[in-house]
Amino acid sequence: MGVGDRFRAVEERIAQAADRAGREAEDITLVAVSKTRTVAEIEEAVQAGVRVLGENRVQEAEGKYAGVRLPVQWHLVGHLQTNKARKAVEIFSLVHSLDSLPLGQELDRRAEKLGKTVDILVQVNTSGEVSKSGVPPEEAVDLAGKLSDLRSIRVRGLMTIGALGAEGDAARPYFVQLREVRDRVASARIPNVSMAHLSMGMSGDFEAAIEEGATLIRVGTAIFGHRPQRP
Ligand SMILES: *Cc1c(COP(=O)(O)O)cnc(C)c1O
Repeated sequence: MGVGDRFRAVEERIAQAADRAGREAEDITLVAVSKTRTVAEIEEAVQAGVRVLGENRVQEAEGKYAGVRLPVQWHLVGHLQTNKARKAVEIFSLVHSLDSLPLGQELDRRAEKLGKTVDILVQVNTSGEVSKSGVPPEEAVDLAGKLSDLRSIRVRGLMTIGALGAEGDAARPYFVQLREVRDRVASARIPNVSMAHLSMGMSGDFEAAIEEGATLIRVGTAIFGHRPQRP
């Protein structure tokens, strides 16, 4: 099966999960995670109908961003270092992985210089695993409040990665938790902070994520096939 067939199969599963949850499939954006994939593979996916690509390293995304000549949006789904903030502002329309005030301040500064506004999601560490980025759930309201003062970034929601090895239904508690954090931030009614988006769910668990309210799902291997090891 090629990229196009796999993409259509994922779209069909999205539609079915949305249906089960009484949701509209149009309210769920599929982010095709293209880390480690070549420009040719990415272009094949875009031709098949992919509208949003997710990359997890700025440096890797840079070359592909220059190489892919088809209209597509780029999202950053991986951890961002402050020294890559300027490039990130140039390339990405949404940063899923904002997890500290200093990083927010740097993105804001760089965005302002370029006369742009950058949409961001606050990454929440719902599993508590030390290997995972993200703020602890109880700090999300506080960070969103501090970020709300920055004029060139806009908080649009939250993102999480489930626990390592937890797939399908096993990942559900992390998604439920992110939704609860979203409700807490939303009820704090912070000016300039929207909680429109929940980025959660990957190849192994996106259906459960949709059932729990995901508006953005990040899917790599189910579209592009098994990932080659990084060199
Ligand atoms: C790689 C990655 C994904 C996609 O993972 P798959 O299991 O290949 O679907 C999603 N989110 C993040 C943050 C990633 O790094």
